[in-house]
Amino acid sequence: MDAALLHRTLTWIEIGLAVVTVIALRFIVAPYGRHGRAGFGPGINTRAAWVLMELPTVALFVPIYLAGAQATELVPLVLLAFWLSHYLYRTFYFPFRIRPGSPKTALLIVASGALFNCLNAFINARQLSEFGVYPPEWLTDPRFLSGAALFVLGSLINRDADRTLRALRTPEDPKGTYRVPHGRLYEYVSCPNFLGEIIEWFGFSVMTWSLPGFAFFLYTAANVGPRALAHHAWYREKFPDYPKQRRALIPFLL
Ligand code: NDP
Repeated sequence: MDAALLHRTLTWIEIGLAVVTVIALRFIVAPYGRHGRAGFGPGINTRAAWVLMELPTVALFVPIYLAGAQATELVPLVLLAFWLSHYLYRTFYFPFRIRPGSPKTALLIVASGALFNCLNAFINARQLSEFGVYPPEWLTDPRFLSGAALFVLGSLINRDADRTLRALRTPEDPKGTYRVPHGRLYEYVSCPNFLGEIIEWFGFSVMTWSLPGFAFFLYTAANVGPRALAHHAWYREKFPDYPKQRRALIPFLL
């Protein structure tokens, strides 16, 4: 198969996966973290699980990017820097800062997450350094500028929300302790971490103006959107005094 056709086909497969994921997650809550439960096979250490799951986003993305014809050009390098700013954090920093409530994560989750990340790394790395058309003027294009602003905003929201969750547990707490988060966007929604993630990848899809970027935005929304609804329902059930005005994902709306 011709390389461009393969790239397009894999991108559409990712879009198809987003549709399958959002439908599947209406019936089954992804079994990790507070929703972890028996029946999904053996598990591994949760920190190792995060690193293994996210590793392809760096270890596969970079070599595939470097093999592209435009790998050393300015704009692809800038886009690579945006990508890595997220994934170096998610792969090598986040897993070592969380205080997991459950010691193990199902291997099934790790394998499916890693496999998805291989596909996503491939289509987006090829987009940046091989198939995208990104002349130096792209850096002043309104699509790049607005997408980059959204990416940075989403990233700030996501990291700030991750930080708030981390602070909810102390090393002395028994495993599985959960508290109601407060402050900033937590006053409006249960899961600003997921809201930030969605904004971030929407920004990336705009700044790359690409179908692979859009496919990843769709997949992210399909994956963390239902998780936000599940977390919200769980909070309301577990904490009878959970703030009534707080929504799941989108302030005042959802
Ligand atoms: P969660 O919000 O489920 O959990 C994040 C961390 O905070 C976990 O360690 C969790 O512990 C802990 N935590 C959450 N709520 C509380 C609470 N009320 N009290 C105490 N501790 C709490 O997020 P995920 O683990 O699903 O995701 C982590 C990050 O990865 C997020 O930033 C998310 O956006 C991103 N992500 C991106 C995806 C994508 O498709 N792009 C897919 C999935 C995640 P515990 O695990 O024990 O519940």
